Amino acid sequence: MSQLRVRFAPSPTGYLHIGGARTALFNYLLAKQQAGIFVLRIEDTDVERSTQESVDAILDAMEWLGFSCDEGPIYQSERFPMYKQKVQQLLAEGKAYKCYCSPEELTAKREQAMKEGRKPKYDGTCRERSDQPDAPYVIRFRLPEGQEETTFVDKIKGPISVRHEELDDLIIQRTDGTPTYNLVVVIDDAEMGINLVIRGDDHINNTPRQILLYQALGYQVPDFAHVPMILGPDKKRLSKRHGATSVMAYQEMGYLPEALVNYLARLGWSCGDEEIFSMAELIEKFSLENVGRSAGVFNPEKLLWLNSHYIKTGDAKRLAELLTPFLEQKGIDVTKGPDMVAVVESLRERATTLVEMAEGAAFYFAEEIVYEEKAQKKFLKAEQAELFATLVAELEACPEFTEEKLEAAFAVIMEKSGLKFGKVAQPLRVVLTGGTASPSIYDVLQVLGKERSLQRIRQAQGVL
Ligand code: GLU
Repeated sequence: MSQLRVRFAPSPTGYLHIGGARTALFNYLLAKQQAGIFVLRIEDTDVERSTQESVDAILDAMEWLGFSCDEGPIYQSERFPMYKQKVQQLLAEGKAYKCYCSPEELTAKREQAMKEGRKPKYDGTCRERSDQPDAPYVIRFRLPEGQEETTFVDKIKGPISVRHEELDDLIIQRTDGTPTYNLVVVIDDAEMGINLVIRGDDHINNTPRQILLYQALGYQVPDFAHVPMILGPDKKRLSKRHGATSVMAYQEMGYLPEALVNYLARLGWSCGDEEIFSMAELIEKFSLENVGRSAGVFNPEKLLWLNSHYIKTGDAKRLAELLTPFLEQKGIDVTKGPDMVAVVESLRERATTLVEMAEGAAFYFAEEIVYEEKAQKKFLKAEQAELFATLVAELEACPEFTEEKLEAAFAVIMEKSGLKFGKVAQPLRVVLTGGTASPSIYDVLQVLGKERSLQRIRQAQGVL
């Protein structure tokens, strides 16, 4: 068996969206699983709509998701001479012809056909034309004669047939001399040795036409697997109306790439009842046979659930690195705060995104605590002066801020003040964090450490 060669072929006319990322993922997983080659090809033949900005956005998103390619990025815009040569070959062999019909004529013919209840397809006016008028032309691929239908067996959708009477002579080169998608995709997939094409099922109608082009150009036809599209909760095609569709928007919203990868893999693919898959497990277990034939429905709550799972269980050091830019965005200099790993450990149970975690972490880095108004009124009152003095004395005397030593210190504080745990912890929480909701008071004290904690109590003593 020959080595598996797959590709992801985005058009750089916008960011990488969720659907594209899933197609890229399926390609990547199979390549890794079968020691194959994953090619990244940038389909930028549409010069007007392709931008460098989109190329960069797509490459950034691929990198963030961890989809490294083995070959590429290869740019179609650098391959025009080869496409031209293949068009010449088809012309010379009589498999393509120049069509001089003007857009107005074509529109008129289409309208006429519709009026007469016929399918509006090109009627072949220029097929047998031998003159060469001095006028603009497109080049069309001649639908091969003597064949009634084209059939292929899609690895996800099963057998698919198209009757040739449904097809017409496809434009392979535009008036401006640029080649069209259906032609270049065939040339590139063949020339790059792609033997399995995995792509969105919005291209499934193109496939029979492409198979005819493979045959006309003397290429071997690859296998195809068309991935069902992703729908919004209202069962309409996923779009901006449903929320963010750009991969990098999820990064900005504080999602972890492993959560998005896990989510996208499970959207349309299943493996028993399992929900949680690391990239390594996906590489091991993924198969096209278990990809469903119908569209998947995007479920933001499930993605969020997976994200909180990975925040709870991920390596704290890595999470700390990922969290840092979110804190920096808030103007926080993390080098001046407590240990970031300890910060993450104290917040990971409660945060569902890194954005939320950064919000929850901000108090750790404050030079001076800003108290929530209600909390200050309720908990920072003159009658607390004695409690705060006891807190300073006992915490100062506490040899180390470990859970055990802090518990011992609290026992003394409660005894001396005659207050229950909550009556000590809640004012102290306001003192240390500015608010009434935070990780456990022992966690906060440990993360802040002795010096910062005492400094904050002294700040509070000054406002009583
Ligand atoms: N460039 C095409 C797109 O972005 C993909 C074509 C293909 O995968 O064959 O839709």
